[in-house]
Amino acid sequence: MKVLDTLTREPRAVIGEGNLVRMYVCGVTPYDTTHLGHARTFLVYDVLVRHLRARGVAVRYVRNVTDVDDSILERARQMGEHYLDLAERYMRIFDQDMRALNAIPPDVAPRATQEIPEMQRLIRAILDKGQAYVRQGTVYFRVASVPQYGSLSRFDRARMLAVNREFSENPDDPLKEDPLDFPIWKAAVPGEPTWDSPWGPGRPGWHIECSAMSERYLGVEFDLHGGGEDLIFPHHENELAQSAGFSGRYPFAHVWMHVGMVRLGGIKMSKSLGNMVFARDLLRRYTSDAIRLYLLRQPYREPLDYDEAELAACEARVQQLRAATEGANSRAARPDSRAETGREAALAALDDNLDTPRALAVLEQLAAQAREDRERADPSPVLAATIRELGERLGLMLR
Ligand SMILES: [Zn+2]
Repeated sequence: MKVLDTLTREPRAVIGEGNLVRMYVCGVTPYDTTHLGHARTFLVYDVLVRHLRARGVAVRYVRNVTDVDDSILERARQMGEHYLDLAERYMRIFDQDMRALNAIPPDVAPRATQEIPEMQRLIRAILDKGQAYVRQGTVYFRVASVPQYGSLSRFDRARMLAVNREFSENPDDPLKEDPLDFPIWKAAVPGEPTWDSPWGPGRPGWHIECSAMSERYLGVEFDLHGGGEDLIFPHHENELAQSAGFSGRYPFAHVWMHVGMVRLGGIKMSKSLGNMVFARDLLRRYTSDAIRLYLLRQPYREPLDYDEAELAACEARVQQLRAATEGANSRAARPDSRAETGREAALAALDDNLDTPRALAVLEQLAAQAREDRERADPSPVLAATIRELGERLGLMLR
């Protein structure tokens, strides 16, 4: 199976040594309800995991929870709530939403606040290598220490600075040697949670969290790193600089896979803009299968412009697929060459950069054949079983 790698812009083999895929996906910062953009991102990796496992590949799936960072602390301040209570509440909502969407939970879901010693160990090692410097209790990563810096996003310096400003990465901080340098440990600020460290009390920077958690649970080098497209810069660029810059094992993850944004009125759906459609609101009106079908009908790397009428139309499509699974029996005596050909075509589509639109087209074609069979009062139990099996690969329950 190959996936288009963001770093090289080429399709690259996903399955690693020992028929194992070690994958790390950047999870949520739990300070708001799951919107359709999150749902899309995590459902794409869900299909990837399902497909690999059904193929007999062992997958170790790690998805972190960023339960301490600027956005969560700011929201907690606004709400007058302890940041960990806020995180707990939204993590529960996120887990419920993911379960309702029939998503397989990750094998490990580390929380940043539980991994501070690991982060400090990594920061110390980066400092020892001369790739960071301490200024007034903050430790900054020295971007100039990694010659490949910028290769993942391919942004030029002006664009990096502009995006950093958007992400409140504070390029104007006078303590930085280079405006692109970023904090891996932030000196304590009154009112914020702090941990003791050799550099004084403070808290970890956002990017070091994922470098530390991925290394702890997957090793210094692993097979696939994923997340939403908006994480390519600065988050993944900085993670890559820290991890690979430090270990010397560039590019740290063999494949970097990113999922396109969901847009509303042409603008990216995001918490900061407030233009969101929430998964749980949709789940009150549509089945999880319809939401999946809608999200997976678009190539995963491309932006998806949310259109409720199209989502509503997916409900009818799901009903047709469901009807086509009636009487499914994979052990039925009568073989069905259409089922075998369709199955191979759908699996080949998923092997080809997780082409879910093509796999769904095959599935719907098979369902149309099943419908014709039924109309002729000659249903094929094997064909129905194949439709159910392929549906399961895409996380469709069809029940
Ligand atoms: Zn991350």
